[in-house]
Amino acid sequence: MSAPTYDLGKLHGGLRLDSHKQVSTAQPILEVPLPSHLILPLAQHVGEPAHPVVSIGEHVLKGQLIAQHEGSIGAPVHASSSGTVVAIEAWPIVRRLGDKAPCIVIETDGEDRARDVDEADVPYTAMRPEELAMRILEGGIVGLGGAVFPTAQKLMQAKTCQLDYLILNGVECEPYISCDDVLMREHACEVISGAQILLHVLSLDVCFIAVESDKPEALHALADAMTAAGDERLVLKQVPTIYPSGGEDQLVQLVTNREVPSGGLPSDIGCLVQNVGTAVAIHNWINNHEPLISRITTITGDGVRQPMNVRARIGTTVADMVAFAGGYTDVAKQLIIGGPMTGRSVTTDRVPVVKASNCILVLSATPSPGPEKPCIRCGDCAAVCPVQLLPQQLFWYACADDEKHLRSYGLTDCIECGCCDLVCPSHIPLTADFRKAKARFRELADEKARAERARKRFEARSERLAREQQEREAQLAAQKQAARKAGPAAIAEIMRRKKKDRD
Ligand code: SF4
Ligand code: SF4
Repeated sequence: MSAPTYDLGKLHGGLRLDSHKQVSTAQPILEVPLPSHLILPLAQHVGEPAHPVVSIGEHVLKGQLIAQHEGSIGAPVHASSSGTVVAIEAWPIVRRLGDKAPCIVIETDGEDRARDVDEADVPYTAMRPEELAMRILEGGIVGLGGAVFPTAQKLMQAKTCQLDYLILNGVECEPYISCDDVLMREHACEVISGAQILLHVLSLDVCFIAVESDKPEALHALADAMTAAGDERLVLKQVPTIYPSGGEDQLVQLVTNREVPSGGLPSDIGCLVQNVGTAVAIHNWINNHEPLISRITTITGDGVRQPMNVRARIGTTVADMVAFAGGYTDVAKQLIIGGPMTGRSVTTDRVPVVKASNCILVLSATPSPGPEKPCIRCGDCAAVCPVQLLPQQLFWYACADDEKHLRSYGLTDCIECGCCDLVCPSHIPLTADFRKAKARFRELADEKARAERARKRFEARSERLAREQQEREAQLAAQKQAARKAGPAAIAEIMRRKKKDRD
């Protein structure tokens, strides 16, 4: 019987952008030395922040659990090296709205001593899928492609659907970022091992590993590793180099020719996407007992002296990272965490590298695109939108703060890729406006949830008070009954109590 063939689908819109990746891929991955302090935010994932399980002054070991996950969606945090917890305090972090958040600060002791491993060496194939998913949760594994959704919970959600394919995302389409490219070149066997663990959790028989055509070294390394593994469930897929083909829904469309419905998930159409870095993190935890305490990050841009890819401990500050890459050049003006299209500008390099930090981009001042002008309805933005939205209409409704039409025109499906901005001849900052509108949606939803919680609290309190009142009245009635038999002194006592109750 011949092997099944799988054709590629087509991506709507998108742009071919200058990659700027060669400067950071010229040398192998380097290890950033242990910093004097590690700053570990309690919220490095989608969901509730983890809660600390260590105290100030406590000595911790590398890989030790320092914050346990909370709620139905969350992930634990582990010490990235050995040392002493010197603070649990608010620290500047990279956030959508840029502010501070609670972090555990560890002063490292330079010994980098690891915790004793007490887990039994059970091969993952001997574990039940649900048991394996729980292990993945304990390792603090989250999606390393940028979404940082806790991996175990994503797997468990997907398992409630009828799944056909696992897709490993090796499509690193945003300019400048090359951490996944070098990871696939140097750790192809670990990518394959992680894919096999994921297939076991999901009880699936097909895994597509998608890599862009501009990464020949990664494609070769993966092909060799797949040959060595001899696992016919794995299928390497070369996809065209076009931005943003690495977006989750866009990749599903490209690889399987299935379209994720508006507001839906890939699992709704039988697919689950995981980043190649996440697969390696799963391999490191399940096979080597190493929780997610380090990651590969690109340090690049014309504002850095020696662009490179490094392996850094989670919690290393951006300042330490840039210093390792030779420091800032004289033209450095903008510091961005992430890529130029979807990254976040930050004003301080005191922010730590977290599980989501795939790139530290330092750029010189970019020339102003020119003053913003009125929309001329040219339609160029709609032509490049990978989600097939009408950005010019969304812009109109965002200006009018018209939530109803923003929703009906699919604002929540916007992946904030920035393609519409790049082509707009009127230099309208469309994506920034869409981000703000989405933030307003979130605020409204939070407000609604807060109001709902307050309503429930009020109702519960009213019910409790009514119940207590009923109990008191029943008690008084019983006492009255008894007093009728006991005489005037007891009646006076009951009246005194009743008056006290009223007061
Ligand atoms: S590209 Fe700009 S000018 Fe053209 S329709 Fe879109 S928003 Fe208007
Ligand atoms: S930012 Fe949103 S609206 Fe603009 S092209 Fe990307 S997905 Fe479409």
